[in-house]
Amino acid sequence: MKALQYRQIGVEPEVVEIETPEPGPGQVRIRVTAAGACHSDSFIMGLTEEQYIYGLPLTLGHEGVGVVDKLGAGVTGLELGESVAVYGPQGCGRCYHCAQGEENYCERAAELGIAPPGLGAPGSMAEFMLVPDARHLLPIGDLDPVANVALTDAGLTPYHAIKQSLPKLVPGSTAVVIGAGGLGHVAIQLLRALTPAMVVALDVSVDKLKLATEVGAHHVFPSDAESAERVKELTGGKGATAVFDFVANQPTLDAGHAMISVEGDQVLVGVGAGTLPSGVLAGPFDSTVRAPYWGSRSELFEVYELARAGLVHVETEVFSLDEAPEAYRRLHDGTLRGRAVVVP
Ligand code: NAD
Ligand code: ZN
Ligand code: ZN
Repeated sequence: MKALQYRQIGVEPEVVEIETPEPGPGQVRIRVTAAGACHSDSFIMGLTEEQYIYGLPLTLGHEGVGVVDKLGAGVTGLELGESVAVYGPQGCGRCYHCAQGEENYCERAAELGIAPPGLGAPGSMAEFMLVPDARHLLPIGDLDPVANVALTDAGLTPYHAIKQSLPKLVPGSTAVVIGAGGLGHVAIQLLRALTPAMVVALDVSVDKLKLATEVGAHHVFPSDAESAERVKELTGGKGATAVFDFVANQPTLDAGHAMISVEGDQVLVGVGAGTLPSGVLAGPFDSTVRAPYWGSRSELFEVYELARAGLVHVETEVFSLDEAPEAYRRLHDGTLRGRAVVVP
């Protein structure tokens, strides 16, 4: 089968021919119908040899939808041909967090060597993919795989990030989205669907700000040294009730810190890094900083229900598997509208 693999540190991924995998006991093979490209893939392909921990060669893709193609021994409850979305942040299934569906926070995944597809295990940018357990497959019925594959991360991750701040996002509150890309443009829609908050989007790209307005942001501003001041002014000096930062580098951390309100949430989703001041006098009283990761299995159900209800959608640009390296170039250059989706 064809697969898109990252094979050598610092060299862009390539389409190669590899053996089609056979499902072992308990495993399910899907024929991939759509795979999404995430900035996290770009991030790991930018790591040095010392920092890189995902194994080589790595078949990319941690957003996947497919049809059930072959069942390993002992697998029941799935129909061949059924359309399914893959839950990516797979855990042990047995620990306290996994018992709540929070496999993204599995206590034992590292110890057991369990890695998400495309981030250690072979991913979805291939004609076929193995899924270790049927519980990681969510039937999506007649939802279009291409339009909805990115919900598995670009939908689930902002959903999980926003859900924890919902009690604060009451009428009169303000939510700020920094970075209106793959995740951010879905975050804007989730905030509009789930809260009465005023939604403000910040980005460095004029096109992304335009997209932010189109998907429901009430206000958009360039992301720069003046961002915090603008949000303060817009909110009559109160600041942002919650900031969802899909970049999280030093400039956006500083901006978020400067614009957060008393009891506000600064939520760091982007994998950038930097430092923030801490201490009771360092920021507004009772403000919090959180760094959530992906989402739970039950939240994936909830995200797909929102899509089914027409309350969120993903703007997608479609590429063939042969064109997948180009999708990553466009992602790296920041010129995609929404998400790049690869159709093997
Ligand atoms: P993307 O490239 O589609 O979007 C990033 C957006 O940020 C772009 O619109 C870009 O123009 C904008 N941007 C860049 N610099 C900016 C700045 N200084 N201020 C404001 N906007 C800026 O990326 P994506 O796939 O949506 O991923 C977003 C981030 O989330 C990445 O860092 C990714 O690795 C991370 N991520 C984290 C998780 C998690 O579980 N925590 C999950 C998925 C992705
Ligand atoms: Zn991702
Ligand atoms: Zn677990």
